Amino acid sequence: MRKFNFCAGPAALPEPVLRQAQQELLDWGGRGCSVMEVSHRSAEFLEVAERAEQDLRDLLSIPDNYKVLFLQGGATAQFSAVPWNLFGVGDKVADYIHSGQWADKAIREAKRYGQVNIVASGEDRSFTYAPGAESWTQSDNAAYFHYTPNETIGGVEFDYVPDVTCPLVADMSSNILSRPIPVEKFGVIYAGAQKNIGPSGIAVGIVRDDLLDRAMEGIPRSLSWKVAAEAGSMDNTPPTFAWYLAGLVFRWLKGQGGVEAMSTLADRKSTLLYEFIDRSDFYSCPVEKSSRSRMNVPFVLADERLDKEFLRQSEEAGLLNLKGHRSVGGMRASLYNAVPLEAVEALVSFMADFEKRCA
Ligand code: PMP
Repeated sequence: MRKFNFCAGPAALPEPVLRQAQQELLDWGGRGCSVMEVSHRSAEFLEVAERAEQDLRDLLSIPDNYKVLFLQGGATAQFSAVPWNLFGVGDKVADYIHSGQWADKAIREAKRYGQVNIVASGEDRSFTYAPGAESWTQSDNAAYFHYTPNETIGGVEFDYVPDVTCPLVADMSSNILSRPIPVEKFGVIYAGAQKNIGPSGIAVGIVRDDLLDRAMEGIPRSLSWKVAAEAGSMDNTPPTFAWYLAGLVFRWLKGQGGVEAMSTLADRKSTLLYEFIDRSDFYSCPVEKSSRSRMNVPFVLADERLDKEFLRQSEEAGLLNLKGHRSVGGMRASLYNAVPLEAVEALVSFMADFEKRCA
């Protein structure tokens, strides 16, 4: 019944997680109600919340001097939260790498509060690559350095972690939990949930302790990491169901072998698709090889008049949501953790068949 889903987000969730949620929906562990119907301050929900946090800490080996926050407003709220929380001490200057549409949104928001120095930009080649460190011009007084390790729309992923002297801030919305990361190199990591974490409505923040006291005066309470940290991410009612489901995803991930296993799988899935695209004269991927995302694979057909037919037939073949982002057109296959290898095998086989019939 379930089809292969390549949606960029909200994205496919692991089937065992959905089954468990379904099974527990009416009667959660014999309580006679669902997890959505109990107080977020109840002992039973606190256990869910704490277990989710611990599992995430285990999965990413998050050191003790980092707070793990469950936040609201998606990654977009964090575009504002980052300057609000970090511009309160010293100069209101920040370094940003402009790597595509999501970096651009973060930059626009930061500019409302301070000065943004674009350290490097992929604009010269239409954002088809991750700019390397050799071209950077860092400011000496930056409050922080922000980058977007994976551009979900452009399909551009950094294959390195920037080495910087000020706190490094990363929007990991679309590649968190897809590989081990050296958390200690970061000041702040944030990610919307609806790709590799769980359903939309919740975001994760990982914030180094010493950065909790740098907020600008007048920071809205709902954006303050310090308030969230002190309240155990429950200064107001959190999205309890999303939090619970994220916890089930973390458990599932641990059972699958954690982020190391996810990384191996991401290599296999993305290599299979990219190699097929590169062998074909009919499909092509605009992203430079060294910067290709393992999570989001954008590709175009040689004749865009076939796009509609490709999408119609792929849906019919049980391959969902391959349409590229509305701003760029073409196709995009998102290969997050919950997308199995078989989905990519089915996609490649459909693409080969479509090419034979329509090229
Ligand atoms: N950053 C990146 C890299 C994203 O992919 C997205 C959503 N696709 C966002 C930020 C915005 O996330 P949200 O919709 O959760 O605010």
